[in-house]
Amino acid sequence: MAGAREETPVSDADRCDNFIDGRFVPPAGGSYLPVWEPATGRVYAEVAASGRADVDAACQAAERAFPSWRELPTERRAAVLNALADRLEAQLERFAAAESKDTGKPITLARAVDIPRAVSNLRFFAAAAQHFATECHPTSADVLNYTLRQPLGVVAGISPWNLPLYLFTWKVAPALAAGNCVVGKPSELTPRTATLFAGLCGEAGLPPGVLNVVHGSGPDAGEPICAHPSVRAVSFTGGTKTGARIAGVAGPLFKKLSLELGGKNPVLVFDDCDFEAAVATTLRSSFSNQGEICLCGSRVFVQDALYDRFRDELVARAARLVVGDPADPATDQGALISTEHHAKVRGYLDLARREGGTILCGGQPVSLPGRCAGGWFLSPAVVEGLAPDCRTSQEEIFGPVVSLYRFRTEEEAVRLANGTAYGLASVVWTGSLDRAHRAVRDLQAGITWVNCWMLRDLRTPFGGVKQSGVGREGGWEALRFFTEAKNVCLKLSS
Ligand code: NAD
Repeated sequence: MAGAREETPVSDADRCDNFIDGRFVPPAGGSYLPVWEPATGRVYAEVAASGRADVDAACQAAERAFPSWRELPTERRAAVLNALADRLEAQLERFAAAESKDTGKPITLARAVDIPRAVSNLRFFAAAAQHFATECHPTSADVLNYTLRQPLGVVAGISPWNLPLYLFTWKVAPALAAGNCVVGKPSELTPRTATLFAGLCGEAGLPPGVLNVVHGSGPDAGEPICAHPSVRAVSFTGGTKTGARIAGVAGPLFKKLSLELGGKNPVLVFDDCDFEAAVATTLRSSFSNQGEICLCGSRVFVQDALYDRFRDELVARAARLVVGDPADPATDQGALISTEHHAKVRGYLDLARREGGTILCGGQPVSLPGRCAGGWFLSPAVVEGLAPDCRTSQEEIFGPVVSLYRFRTEEEAVRLANGTAYGLASVVWTGSLDRAHRAVRDLQAGITWVNCWMLRDLRTPFGGVKQSGVGREGGWEALRFFTEAKNVCLKLSS
């Protein structure tokens, strides 16, 4: 059962080394961190525990590669990204299996979402960079101002464990397409697919040094990347506390920063909604990827007249979700990422009880037979009866836990929804266009889905407000972030 950790010998094939200057290299200090398989609770691989020397080597390789990469025509850079996408797509099954093993997520999700989306990220930014245009301001008959958008040089991408390759490529693709060289640091908990991805770079035609992967912990590898004098910009996705720390390191050095942080996303269910669509999608928005998606709705506000029916149906469906081996296609809910995270989520369920909440279903560690006996599984939990301002209602849990609240009026729903420090995503379920527009106007969030969830168009701006982040990624926003605007003022001679 969850909690214990077992070590098994790690083979060379399961070692995640750094990828610097086009080659896999061991960390300068020679040490490695264990990588756990969440579904079994066992160590199955190890990852380079990098430090300053590795970061220096990666930054130097990136600096050397930059002049030639920047000078390649955009079309040629796009061709390399498309070649990477093709190779990734051809190995979808291998990557999906690796992602599922590293994260504990169901293989079906890795196959249908994580890896296809990584392929799309590469193809999308390959195309977007070729359509990216800049402004021209004709000032007078003899004066022309135009904007050049130039790549920054060496940029960093630091990504979390919940959507490892999906978010790694979400940063790497626009950065490379715009002509930068990258030092990327995946989460030390899920280093596998970024390592496999690095292995595709040579055959896809990416010159050495253009993409470097430095593995390791946040403090030892991540922070030296953020502080490195060569690094001109940091695109970070992860927790709000880490984001604050990175801003503290990179801000005084005047690096460009994009911070995609945590959330406590509200779902507003009005009594005029399409009930079946609302309940079925809320089940997904609560528990997809074990609730370990920054966009998951964790606070569901339901209008009085619909509350009991909605609660009963959501609880019945949550109780039917299959918690199982992530490698089994019948599994809906895989394992949580780590024993610490498993304990943290259970701790929040204990807190919810102390704060007056009732756990309507789930919230129990799940013991599976066979190879998953030591895995970190938890049944999906629905909680009700919490005050909107208690800690369980305010803090990000990032697990399979959703809480329900009753509301009467539209004003009350929006006020409660806005009543946290976060502002990443929000969802509105209603049959009224007017009500939807009013809610969209008033909700404090970077994204509002109306009568849907997780429908993504890569052209749209993505990011949060308040403590959910600073800046926007996606579409032109990403290409703007990874370039510096230079205004050129030309005066014709008379
Ligand atoms: P985390 O902040 O612990 O780690 C994220 C990454 O930052 C990892 O690679 C980690 O090694 C690195 N890191 C940690 N400390 C660092 C430091 N001092 N300097 C530099 N790098 C450092 O986050 P996590 O636990 O991996 O991910 C879960 C969090 O990510 C949740 O809060 C979730 O909401 C958030 N998230 C946000 C989005 C979004 O788009 N807004 C998407 C996915 C996840």
